[in-house]
Amino acid sequence: MNLQRKLSILADAAKYDASCASSGSIKRDSRGGTGVGSTTSGMGICHSYAPDGRCISLLKILLTNFCIFDCSYCINRASSQVQRARFSVEEVVDLTLNFYKRNYIEGLFLSSGIIQSSDYTMEQLVNIARTLRKTHDFRGYIHLKTIPDASEDLIRQAGLYADRLSINIELPSKQSLKRYAPEKNIGSIHHSMQELREHIDESKENRKQRKKVVSAPNRKKTKTSRFVFSPAGQSTQMIIGADESSDNKILTLSNYLYGKYQMRRVYYSAFSPIPDTATNLPAKAPPLVREHRLYQADWLLRFYGFSVEEISNTHNGDTGMLDLDIDPKLAWALHNLDFFPINVNRATREMLLRVPGIGAIVASRIIHSRQFHNLRFSDLKKCGVSIKKVAPFIEALGRSPNSVPLESNGLRNYFKASTSTQLCLFD
Ligand code: SF4
Repeated sequence: MNLQRKLSILADAAKYDASCASSGSIKRDSRGGTGVGSTTSGMGICHSYAPDGRCISLLKILLTNFCIFDCSYCINRASSQVQRARFSVEEVVDLTLNFYKRNYIEGLFLSSGIIQSSDYTMEQLVNIARTLRKTHDFRGYIHLKTIPDASEDLIRQAGLYADRLSINIELPSKQSLKRYAPEKNIGSIHHSMQELREHIDESKENRKQRKKVVSAPNRKKTKTSRFVFSPAGQSTQMIIGADESSDNKILTLSNYLYGKYQMRRVYYSAFSPIPDTATNLPAKAPPLVREHRLYQADWLLRFYGFSVEEISNTHNGDTGMLDLDIDPKLAWALHNLDFFPINVNRATREMLLRVPGIGAIVASRIIHSRQFHNLRFSDLKKCGVSIKKVAPFIEALGRSPNSVPLESNGLRNYFKASTSTQLCLFD
């Protein structure tokens, strides 16, 4: 099979993996004429998303789509009838370098089906990353998916060459994992995540110590470790809609993963029924908007100070599911109207962030501007606020909430009336 055909099979097989954003790595560049690639801002890594929201700035491929496991939800499972292919280590290295030099990609996202054994496969992935870094001095971004049950030593080696490592949690519950991926072990997934966290923490601490030594005046020559392990941290991916888990359950698990293992990101991948799908799976994909709402809710958890309960108990009937019609922040606001209106001249940053239509940047602008004078609605416009969006929820100098009724149904209809009024978390 020629290389182009392999690439077409193995890039297509990798498209089900959502977890490939490339943020948060260390700066590394090839100025000075040595090395290939860069992760410094504006030169190497950038975020680029396909219309379906998936990142396309990395060469995103599988080493192979052969697999000895038979996870029901996966197109590459052993019993699937798909055409199989496998790259050699050298082929992946050459493709990465060539694509990088042609400016097609900013880095590599590499995953794999399991061939022979977990350790054998993981070793191949580590070889690719090592060859890129050591032999070719590649300084671009590398994200490696670790293989379930691979040895600690191999995972540790992977972290020395990769910017980010990830281990898929796969499904929101232990029971679902048992049902759909019986060869995978939830205990060992958590164990690997814990190990990654420890290595990452150790590496961060070492870097901190090095900085202190380097910046200290009259520094003595002290030996400090250069150990850098997965500088962009770890991430994971969860398939949603393959089992009956509610959004509340999914967000509770995400919250736990963020807290316990310091995940940089939990990615949500809407289950897509695959050709020749296993009979124990739903025939239909969940609405894509569910994935979108989960990302919005995840953002609220991480950056806006919301709790899981606040976000997911807003749907009528307490189903634990997010409202698909409106974003989770607006849904929370409509269930907590007694929190509003809030006065933009007195509210804390935390309170401002709870106003639908006010995001982190706008909140900072408001706080900065009101140091000089009390703000009117017209001043808010200059801060980048859409008055139409925030008017029902705020007070400013000379005006209280506008004529829109501050009651849940009226507001819900008001915001649903036009798709253009759908709020954005990032305003
Ligand atoms: S181990 Fe990974 S590649 Fe193999 S069947 Fe399961 S999900 Fe698919």
